[in-house]
Amino acid sequence: MVKLVIPEPVSGGILLTYRCTNECKHCMYACSPRWRSDWINLRDAERILESISKFFRRQYPRDFSRVGVNLGLHFTGGEPFLNFDLLLELVKLAHELEIPSLFVETNCFWCTNDEITEKNLYRLKEAGLNGILISANPFIVEQIPFERIDRAVRISRRIFGENALIYQDLFYNQLKMIGLNGTLSFEEYLSIMRGRDPMGLYAGLSYPSMLLMGRLPYRIGYLYRKYPAKQFFSESCLKELTRNWHVHIDNYCNYITGYCAGISLGDARNLEMMCQDGIKLEENPIIEKLISPGGVGRLFKYASEEYGYREREEGYISKCHLCLDIRRHLVEQTDEFKELKPREFYEHL
Ligand code: SF4
Ligand code: SF4
Repeated sequence: MVKLVIPEPVSGGILLTYRCTNECKHCMYACSPRWRSDWINLRDAERILESISKFFRRQYPRDFSRVGVNLGLHFTGGEPFLNFDLLLELVKLAHELEIPSLFVETNCFWCTNDEITEKNLYRLKEAGLNGILISANPFIVEQIPFERIDRAVRISRRIFGENALIYQDLFYNQLKMIGLNGTLSFEEYLSIMRGRDPMGLYAGLSYPSMLLMGRLPYRIGYLYRKYPAKQFFSESCLKELTRNWHVHIDNYCNYITGYCAGISLGDARNLEMMCQDGIKLEENPIIEKLISPGGVGRLFKYASEEYGYREREEGYISKCHLCLDIRRHLVEQTDEFKELKPREFYEHL
């Protein structure tokens, strides 16, 4: 029986939910207010956090608290502040388990005044949170007034010091530079930035700032050069699917690596066993294809021959665009691939 070895994670995030206040055009996890209000169950979370605590104890010095995008554990979504009580409980639990570099990621929708912002952040800090990652980009501000983000940055810096991160500084500085107040449509953003700073715009929307996967190819794919499918046939995703840093576990306990949303390596409640024994490839045919040499080409051939997938005439902006488009087609045709989860992800792109 051929198995895929899953390395122990060294950093990652837990999605409390896929539900969000926003439906950002670039969202890798296709989050949106249209998702059901499903949240991670505390008992499941406890089991998962216990495993993470064991793994991280082998990786980090005791009391390690420096926050970085690819360090420690973060709570995310969807928007975790939509369920503050659950977030608080999870922070307490993770802190009791001595999980290092604990931070939360937010779009700041809730930072409507200084008092609320301070109060919530202090409560989280007292519960053991080490820092915060504030999302700032032209997609978020289509729906979140920029002053809420700016407020979160100001107050978080006071409360968490260097452990207040902005993701991404480039966009935050652009939005500050144009003196944004309120929201801004992406089209307006493009037109302002094209006029003021064409180089800055392209620096922001090209690699490595934006990952060309998830919802992005469907919503703003028109900004990128497209290629025929065969351009990506030789690619394999072994590296991404066995990546041990910045893994994610969603509220349905799906274990997701390489930002490959919609592909579950298994049930994270059994993470220790998965890392010990690996996963059976014959039970995960889509993963089996993707990790092989020329895996993306194999997936294309299989989906075309067995499930009638047809290449998009306009082409694809990345291998992940092609892979996701095929997977979306497969999910529409059949429910036989248990690794293509959660199915709603494919409906909310
Ligand atoms: S990118 Fe963040 S704020 Fe935007 S929809 Fe996704 S989870 Fe929500
Ligand atoms: S092509 Fe698919 S499996 Fe490979 S990295 Fe992209 S989303 Fe993940």
